[in-house]
Amino acid sequence: MAARLASISVDLDSLPHYCRIHGLPESLLDARARSLVHAVAVPRFRELLATVGAPGTFFVIGEDLESDPTAAEGMRQAHAGGIEVASHSHSHDYALSRRGVEAIHEDLARADALIARATGERPSGFRAPGYTLSPDLYAATVAQGYLYGSSAFPAAPYYAAKATVMGALAILGRPSRSVLDTPRVLLAPRVPYRPDPARPYQRGSGAVLELPMAVTPGVRFPFIGTFAATLPRPVLRSTYRALQREAFFNFEMHGVDVLDAADGIPPELTRQQRDLRVPAAQKQERLLEVFRWLKADFDVVTLKVVAERLAPTL
Ligand SMILES: [Zn+2]
Repeated sequence: MAARLASISVDLDSLPHYCRIHGLPESLLDARARSLVHAVAVPRFRELLATVGAPGTFFVIGEDLESDPTAAEGMRQAHAGGIEVASHSHSHDYALSRRGVEAIHEDLARADALIARATGERPSGFRAPGYTLSPDLYAATVAQGYLYGSSAFPAAPYYAAKATVMGALAILGRPSRSVLDTPRVLLAPRVPYRPDPARPYQRGSGAVLELPMAVTPGVRFPFIGTFAATLPRPVLRSTYRALQREAFFNFEMHGVDVLDAADGIPPELTRQQRDLRVPAAQKQERLLEVFRWLKADFDVVTLKVVAERLAPTL
């Protein structure tokens, strides 16, 4: 039997992008807060990965590489240290998938050039802002020559919205509603597949593989960083057990998953993003535990290596 593969990836959305999501003015952020994800979260993630001896994949936003020298230097070092640096688009525009092929292509090409400038290597993979795929966006990833995309988040919409906007503590505050709800099951595959270019959430024979993020079979509860860092341990452990025997486990996190208010995040943002109130030390300890589970049960490799190994089989 082939080895079961896992990957650990981090979306390096900087705080200005969180301000945009929450409709807050970016003027809330001083220079330190603007580069907090790159200056503080990236080194913390590198240390966590080094502790378990696992490689990782960083999805970086092109605009951050352009505006923040810390980001470019951090990605250079990460790449030199064996971490894959992949693209999270240039502008991180949630409407990117609807902007039309030309505009999308321009956005992705810009990010790729900045990544290549920082690391010396063009990215092999892409994660869409807001996890949204479209035929135009898929076509642009094919044109860029990526090996893979990792944008499908095939979780029940309720969980997905909670995970991305509210953070896990919102769920903890209302367990009866959120946990007992029977979510609508989405039709997108939970496992790696070749998309149909005209309908990228369906199987087809597209050139760029899709590596969806981990969600449990059945209820499609997402196993992502925000939940891993904040759910009660027994809940997390049983969620993990539901995925422990999968052929591929794609563990996705965000830079802010290892940050807290004491790092210098403005209170306006921690009010919106409640997982930021959980102490960073506690979240890091939990993530380290998950990394250890993955190391024990899977061959932990970068998403690029996953794509290379799976491409001939899909
Ligand atoms: Zn993002």
